[in-house]
Amino acid sequence: MKIYYDGDANIEIIQGLNVTIVGYGSQGHAHANNLKDSGVNVTVALREDSLSWDKAKEAGLKVSNVSDSVQDADLVMILAPDEFQKGVFEKHIQPNLKDDAILAFAHGFNIHFQKIIPGDGHSVIMIAPKGPGHTVRSTYIKGGGVPSLIAIYNDNIENNEYTAKDVALSYAKANGGTRAGVLETTFKEETETDLFGEQAVLCGGVTALIKAGYETLVEAGYSPEMAYFECLHETKLITDLIQEGGIANMHYSISNTAEYGDYKSGPKIITEDTKSAMKEILSDIQSGKFADDFLDDCRQSNDGSGGPVMKSNRKMTENHPIEKVGKELRSKMKFLNSEKLVDKQKN
Ligand code: NDP
Ligand code: MG
Repeated sequence: MKIYYDGDANIEIIQGLNVTIVGYGSQGHAHANNLKDSGVNVTVALREDSLSWDKAKEAGLKVSNVSDSVQDADLVMILAPDEFQKGVFEKHIQPNLKDDAILAFAHGFNIHFQKIIPGDGHSVIMIAPKGPGHTVRSTYIKGGGVPSLIAIYNDNIENNEYTAKDVALSYAKANGGTRAGVLETTFKEETETDLFGEQAVLCGGVTALIKAGYETLVEAGYSPEMAYFECLHETKLITDLIQEGGIANMHYSISNTAEYGDYKSGPKIITEDTKSAMKEILSDIQSGKFADDFLDDCRQSNDGSGGPVMKSNRKMTENHPIEKVGKELRSKMKFLNSEKLVDKQKN
C-alpha cells in the first residue's frame, strides 16, 4: 500500500484556496490553526451564539457565521458533529456554496450513508487524521503530525493543474498529516472500519473489558484502588508497548509469568461468541442500521446534547464505581492528561 509523505504533496494547492472550516471543536480547532500556521487562508464558520467564537478569534483566526463564510470558499471542511452535519449542510452550506466548491470531511459517515447528498459539480474528499483533535494540534506544533487517511468520493475539479486527490494530499500536508504518513482509502472503507474499530475494540470493547475486570476483582473482595490500577491505569502502559513494537514486543517487555498468563487466558476472554458478536456489530454498521439508530436517538434530544440512549448510558458510566475511585486517584497524579485538559475544546 502506498503511503504518502511530505514530498508527495504540494502545499501550494491548498495555499491557493479559500478554506472554510465549519466548527471549532476537537478537530476544527486543530485543522484551523494548523492550516493557518501552514500559510493557508482559513475562515472558521460557527453559529452566531457559539461559545467558541472568542476562542477562534483569540487564536488570530477569521470567524464568521456559516452562511456567510461558505460564499467565497473554494473548500469547505465540515467539522461539526456528525449528527448535525446534514442539518447545517442543508440549511446554511448548500444554499450559499459556490458551484464548484470542494466539500471535505474528516469522517465519511454522512456521505457514505447518504445523509448528505452534495449537488453535481462539487468534488467530495476526506482528510481524516487518525487521532483526537488535541493530538492533531499538539503534534503539529512540535513539528510532527498524526497519520491521516484521504479518500476521494468524486472528483469534479475542472482545471488541468491538479486533481481532487492532489487537493486532499495538500490539505493533509498543511495539517501535518504527511509528516506522519497518509494512506488512501474510500469513504466506505473509512466509515465502516472506523465505526467497527471504535465499537468493537477501541472504545466499546476496551471499556467493557476494563469494567468487567474491575468488577470481578472488587466483587471478590479486593480493594477498588488496586482494581483501578490493575484494570484501568495499566492499560495505557501495555497498549503503548503494543503500539511501539507490536504484540511480541509487549510480551518481551512483560514478565514470563504475565506472558504465559496472556496465552492461557486471553482466548477464554475473547471467544468464538465474542467474534460472532463482532460480526453482528459489523453487519449492523454495513447495513446502515447503526447509523439510523444513532440518528434516531439524536433526533429525540431536545437540546442537541444526546438522545435518551446516549444520556442514560452517560449517566450509568458516570455512576460506575470505577469512575469514582478513578477521579480520586487521578487527582493525585497531576502529571496525567495536562496537555489534554488545556487543549480540550469540548465543555
Ligand atoms: P466536536 O463536537 O468537538 O466539535 C463540534 C464543533 O462544531 C463545535 O465547535 C460546535 O460549535 C460546532 N457545531 C455544532 N453544531 C453546529 C452547527 N449547527 N453549526 C455550526 N457549528 C456547529 O466535533 P469533533 O471535532 O469531534 O468532530 C468533527 C468531525 O471530525 C466529525 O465528522 C468526526 O467524526 C470527525 N473526527 C473526529 C475525531 C475526534 O478526535 N474528535 C477524530 C477524527 C474525525 P460550538 O463550539 O459552538 O459548540
Ligand atoms: Mg473513530
